[in-house]
Amino acid sequence: MADQWTCPYCNRPCTIGGNDVRTMSGYNSISQEYGYYISTVTVIVCPNPDCRQHAIPLRIQKTNEQGRLYGKTLYSWNLMPESEAKPFPAYIPKALLEDYREACLTKKLSPKASATLSRRCLQGMIRDFWSIKKNKLVDAINDLQHKVDTTTWDAIDSVRKVGNIGAHLEKDVNLMIEVDPEEASLLIWLIETLLTDWYINRYEKEKRMKQLVEVAEQKTNQKKEIPRATSGENQ
Ligand SMILES: [Zn+2]
Repeated sequence: MADQWTCPYCNRPCTIGGNDVRTMSGYNSISQEYGYYISTVTVIVCPNPDCRQHAIPLRIQKTNEQGRLYGKTLYSWNLMPESEAKPFPAYIPKALLEDYREACLTKKLSPKASATLSRRCLQGMIRDFWSIKKNKLVDAINDLQHKVDTTTWDAIDSVRKVGNIGAHLEKDVNLMIEVDPEEASLLIWLIETLLTDWYINRYEKEKRMKQLVEVAEQKTNQKKEIPRATSGENQ
């Protein structure tokens, strides 16, 4: 059966099925008291010919005596890739991508380590992209208000209003703060949105503008060449 799936390596939405997906299940009971469990390991090979990476999720669920599933998934892990970090292009500064990837990797194990990395990444982005060199993140965000569009500013502002992130924004970005996993996820989401809206959009826009200039130059050259060719024929 074919399913829709987005590859965690190349980020391309694809239809998977057939030889690209294999599922291995193990079903057993702990005891009569604790009941039956089923573990499922799925191996998915990305159908994109330029990628072909392996994604391997593992899931543990409860079943009844007949092996029929009930209730929701008890535990799930991504064996491969370990991190839920999305792929971002290499023209984004390496230090920012490292902080972002480590924030994703530590999200479940240590939301406070993850949030600390995300805050540092956010400050690094504001410093690099907008050349705002304020020591406190809250001051940097305030300076940003008149540089970005209202929607972006509202998104950043709403994240900073959330619980402990907001309460500790004034402090040094390297200071560990207590946050819950949802707050850590919200910060990661903000980083992903800004990496796309700032770095990728700027790159794509510059690429399109360069193409436009090239096309315009070609047209100008063609115009210049036409009379020359005509005069050549007349000689
Ligand atoms: Zn892929």
